[in-house]
Amino acid sequence: MSTDNKNKPPVNTDDDSKYSMDTHIIYGKNVSAKWDYSHHVTAPISSSTTFRLDSVDRGAQGFQRFANTKDFGGEAPIFIYDRLGEPNKDMLEENLAYVEKGETAVTFTTGMGAISAVLGILVSTGEEIIAHSTLYGCTISLFNNWYPRYGINVLYTDLTKLENLKEKITVNTKAIYFESPANPNLDIIDIKKIRKIADEINADREETDHLQIIIDNTFATPYCQRPLELGADFVVHSLTKGIGGFGTDMGGVVIGKNKYRDLLLLFRKDFGAVLNTKSAWAILTYGLPTVGLRQKQQISTALKVAKFLEAHPKISYVNYPGLESYKYYNLAKEQMLDFEGNFAPGSMIYFSLKGNTAAECKSNGIKFMDYAADNAYTMTLAVSLGHTRTLIEHPASMTHSVVPPEKLEEKGIDPGGVRLAIGLEKAEDIIRDLEDSLNSIL
Ligand SMILES: *Cc1c(COP(=O)(O)O)cnc(C)c1O
Repeated sequence: MSTDNKNKPPVNTDDDSKYSMDTHIIYGKNVSAKWDYSHHVTAPISSSTTFRLDSVDRGAQGFQRFANTKDFGGEAPIFIYDRLGEPNKDMLEENLAYVEKGETAVTFTTGMGAISAVLGILVSTGEEIIAHSTLYGCTISLFNNWYPRYGINVLYTDLTKLENLKEKITVNTKAIYFESPANPNLDIIDIKKIRKIADEINADREETDHLQIIIDNTFATPYCQRPLELGADFVVHSLTKGIGGFGTDMGGVVIGKNKYRDLLLLFRKDFGAVLNTKSAWAILTYGLPTVGLRQKQQISTALKVAKFLEAHPKISYVNYPGLESYKYYNLAKEQMLDFEGNFAPGSMIYFSLKGNTAAECKSNGIKFMDYAADNAYTMTLAVSLGHTRTLIEHPASMTHSVVPPEKLEEKGIDPGGVRLAIGLEKAEDIIRDLEDSLNSIL
């Protein structure tokens, strides 16, 4: 058997303009020191907690190089121990950074692991984070239940109104944190304008003291929005959702500039929120390569479903970035674009049912969801999103139950609001189930 081609270089995909990102998303860079691309078609699953080091000298070199990328960048890695780095995670990180248009990515065991890590390396005791009022429930819990113990102050404000941000920034503000679209109400925040304000502040600050913008891009996925291109410093994702895509594995990632890679790796090593190798492999093999295909289908369905809901007499309002009636429609059209520049308003819908009083709106919403839980084939009452199946849930009593009832409004959460995460079913079938469930309410 000829081995002449053993070291044949893989097809060079560094020329990004030659192929579309829809294709790149399947191949990634196709070149990696972490894996011999010239023989495997699918990346092998690597499941080794520890690695043979050949000699004490090589072991010492490995430890020296770990989290020292500025001195050792580019050389083939010396793997030591899973918690420090291993091939599956490293390959996934290369492809995630590439797709999100960032310099580097570091994965974590969950989205919450990623959020804790990026804020962990940026903010210390006595410093402040300014956050949008509406956020994922566990992020609110992290900020309200844990950060006070560490003397980190989180100031919430409505970042859809930029004057609020300017008012809140002090010399201690280190980070601006938000989701766009926000979970669950789909508020959309102007990333370019936030960048402009941060630049004005940073002009008078030392580089080490710069205000950093962190965006949780979980709802959009990189297919629908690349916040780093719009001015964010860091993007975080729950890989458990749209990128993972099949509801089988948890994961998280921080994507940003190379100069933060070492700190993120050290934080991950010492706090220990390491993505497991088999999940990294599943997300690398199944999730990331299909995110574009799934999102495309989900966007087309979400648009039909949102239009159906909007026209339904029992619905009071529908928040979906793709609806012309949505108050952030124009901003969404600027920010939420697929790799070819087409409007890509995502797969998440938030809506509320009508009622004579606020209490009746809420009870109608709950009746509707309970009916769907019992009777709908294409809607499952469950948290999470970006799944193959359409998931429906009640944020006020589930994902956002950390928010007490009297604070819901301040946090942008409608007590009766319904969150719908579109899956891969046919739009007409979801609509049939929605119609049935709406009809169940008198
Ligand atoms: C689910 C979610 C998270 C947390 O991700 P996990 O993987 O569950 O830890 C963070 N942000 C948003 C917007 C989410 O929807």
